[in-house]
Amino acid sequence: ENELLCLTFQDITHEDDYDAGNRIVDDFKKGRYQSQSIEKRYIHKTGNLIWVLINASPIIEHNLKPLYFVTQIQDITESLKIKKEIEKRAYFDDLTSLPNRALFNDRANVAIANCLRNDERCAILFIDLDNFKNINDSMGHSAGDELLKKVALILNDCIRKTDTAARVGGDEFAILLPKINNIKSAVKLSNRIISSFSKALKIKDKMVYATSSIGFSILPEDGNDFDSLIKNADAAMYKAKNMGRNRFAHYSKKLNKELKKNVEMEEYIANVVLNNNCKIALQPKVSCITNKIIGFESLVRFTGIDYNQSMDKYIKIAEDSDSIIDIDRFVIDRSFYALRKFIDINNLNLVASLNISAKHLRKSDLTQFLISKLKQYKLPASSIELEITEGSIISNLDETINVLEKIKKLGIGIAIDDFGTGYASLDYLKNLPCSSIKIDKSFIRGVNLNEYDRSISSFIIDLSKSLNLDVVAEGVEEQSQLDFIIENNCTSYQGYLFSKPISIDDFSKLLSK
Ligand code: C2E
Ligand code: CA
Ligand code: CA
Repeated sequence: ENELLCLTFQDITHEDDYDAGNRIVDDFKKGRYQSQSIEKRYIHKTGNLIWVLINASPIIEHNLKPLYFVTQIQDITESLKIKKEIEKRAYFDDLTSLPNRALFNDRANVAIANCLRNDERCAILFIDLDNFKNINDSMGHSAGDELLKKVALILNDCIRKTDTAARVGGDEFAILLPKINNIKSAVKLSNRIISSFSKALKIKDKMVYATSSIGFSILPEDGNDFDSLIKNADAAMYKAKNMGRNRFAHYSKKLNKELKKNVEMEEYIANVVLNNNCKIALQPKVSCITNKIIGFESLVRFTGIDYNQSMDKYIKIAEDSDSIIDIDRFVIDRSFYALRKFIDINNLNLVASLNISAKHLRKSDLTQFLISKLKQYKLPASSIELEITEGSIISNLDETINVLEKIKKLGIGIAIDDFGTGYASLDYLKNLPCSSIKIDKSFIRGVNLNEYDRSISSFIIDLSKSLNLDVVAEGVEEQSQLDFIIENNCTSYQGYLFSKPISIDDFSKLLSK
């Protein structure tokens, strides 16, 4: 049996002492006569390192001992190279060469099992770049790729040999500290990463700042298995982002409570219309010339929610799910109901200003919905105006202009909300199909405090007038602010000075007065 195998090796010499055939021979000796195969590394007589696959199959007659073996030896050096490459791709990220999510999960699971067995600690850090999307969008994908590669190098520089830094998503990275003494190790590493990122990086000949937000969780305090550790590290990372980015946070029970509350809030808001937890509040819009009510802005209110808070926070949550569309449509319906009531009871034709989320604007059936509702309440298109924030217009300029043009053709007014808070140049204003501009309340607040807010406000008014647009000042709380905007020829205003947002019934009473 030995001879047979050795014969076939005539062209290759052994690289080490172990005879590849031994395992096969051993098996046969023990009476296991199945075919056997083995991969083995040899030095070919040319001196090259080669990998061979040895197959030995017994030829058996009448269930007796094998008569002989057919042994086949195949040079698999090339195919093994390809296999290794495929494996590498399955476990490593192509761009950065860091381990990918699959390998990270694997290593983390091994580390977790070891720690649990030996009563030790390990940590998982979750790292997210703060402004990757901006850099990618503004400088192009190849710049984004270059940045990710640099980030990978920085992370590898920050860790010990035994740690694993992996790319687990587009601009998300994770680090496994397989064995740590205490929480300090994770804090130290987080600090090291944050300070490494504080230096500008050279990307495509430009200096770029790529700060990061980090969250970490520790076994066993913050979770006993991979899923809960990574989930909690991720949650802590979000906390770090919310605290202002470029920092780290440790997962904690308190944070968990906060998150639970957030989840409850998200659920509440996702079903707020369905569960009848919505109302609207109307804030009068007043003419600067006659000081009479010319319309109102409809603002949504949720029952059972802290009214001292601004709606901004809840609206953002609603925008993350599609519930903002239900909310906007609820507000549209109730506002039309109010308009009808003010015509029938107060004999007044007012204009309702409706806040429309960017997400809603991009839904193709918004115009159809508005038309059918106008019909239902027998209202002219001119009795409504849509408020679109400057930010949402800029983020999707071409598409938004198209939709707005269609809406304007129907005779519906369009106001640019929170004007002055976006980042675009003023050039785009000329091309926007809008009928009025709302100066953001942050500027109005400052008109009596600083020169900057004063000049911005009067500049916006002048600019609007030159483009033949109405200007609305929002957030007018003091007489001196009103005096300022009147002096500067503003068209109309809203604010606590005249009235807070109030219910439909109270508004009707106010109109009667
Ligand atoms: P916004 O469109 O800028 O609405 C004006 C906000 O300023 C309202 O806050 C209003 O209550 C508040 N406000 C009015 N007068 C004054 C004042 O004199 N001083 C101060 N400090 N604030 C004043 P609110 O109701 O909390 O709404 C916040 C934001 O939520 C709105 O900002 C709007 O962007 C969004 N929002 C509200 N209702 C809806 C809605 O039905 N649909 C959509 N898509 N967004 C809505
Ligand atoms: Ca508004
Ligand atoms: Ca506004």
